[in-house]
Amino acid sequence: MKILQIDHLGIAVNTLEEGKKFWGDVMGLKLEGTETVQEQKVTTAFFPVGESEVELLVSTEPDGPIAKFIERNGGKGGFQHVAFRVENIEEALAELKEKGVKLIDETPRIGAAGCKIAFLHPKATGGVLVEISERP
Ligand code: ZN
Repeated sequence: MKILQIDHLGIAVNTLEEGKKFWGDVMGLKLEGTETVQEQKVTTAFFPVGESEVELLVSTEPDGPIAKFIERNGGKGGFQHVAFRVENIEEALAELKEKGVKLIDETPRIGAAGCKIAFLHPKATGGVLVEISERP
């Protein structure tokens, strides 16, 4: 597979306001926009860093994956996943399957900004939730 760059770092937060205080006010990153991905029960907020982004993740539902992550983390937010931009996600998934890598998504789904995304299982990555993403 061809990895082009780190696309974004996904960071879970309890509220966007809380996240903005550090990533915006302290680190000086500029909030470029927000988008709700209903299927994943999450609102994302993008702070570009060069060609990459810090992506804050706020749960829209108490039973969403980000809400569950925060619950497991003792009620606190924290680093949740790293996303790599790939040239061709179907090719990348085929290669990962061939290598016997356990996947959360066998086929790509549509994430924020119309990207095709898929998650690898943390059991196959040494405990890091890894996303691959292809920009439209
Ligand atoms: Zn992501």
